[in-house]
Amino acid sequence: MVVTIDGLAGAGKSTVARLLADRLGYRYLDTGAIYRAVTLAVLDGAPDATTVAASGAWRVLADDPRLRSSAVDEAVSAIARTVSVREALRGAQRDFLAAGDAVAEGRDIGEVVWPQAELKVWLEADPDERARRRGTVHALERDRRDAEQTRVPADAVVVDTTGIAVDVVVERIATLVGERS
Ligand code: C5P
Repeated sequence: MVVTIDGLAGAGKSTVARLLADRLGYRYLDTGAIYRAVTLAVLDGAPDATTVAASGAWRVLADDPRLRSSAVDEAVSAIARTVSVREALRGAQRDFLAAGDAVAEGRDIGEVVWPQAELKVWLEADPDERARRRGTVHALERDRRDAEQTRVPADAVVVDTTGIAVDVVVERIATLVGERS
């Protein structure tokens, strides 16, 4: 079964998706980290983001601590907006999800990458809380830049995480998974 968790910056996607995957024994796919890895390769001097995306060269940077740097935060949206980059990375994401049980987080997973997902979650949190979690208001600016790529799936379950402990959110989604499997 594939569970998609989409939402804006600071909605709590990574924490929730990671814990949920652990809890279910599913594989975890952080698609934001992939866009960040392509961006880091370009900041490191790769001449062309599409080539990095299509060749899989980003994979060597997938765990790099600099993925969360403000330089990457600042540059990632423009690279993620490039159609050819999205196409190449969508292919890699689909290959991963085709292999079986997984929790995948991002901006467009339930609507574009894997519309056949058995459970689609849209995570929400109010803007103050999202800015606080990210430690910066720049997350909200990034949302504005990412708006075109961000899709709330028509059939998503909307989960508001404002003021709710993360284990409660994970439990709620795990219950939904149990109901659908
Ligand atoms: O989720 P995270 O904040 O790490 O995502 C980093 C960036 O990657 C986003 O700001 C967005 O530009 C891009 N992204 C995307 N589509 C996704 C996931 C992330 O365009 N499915």
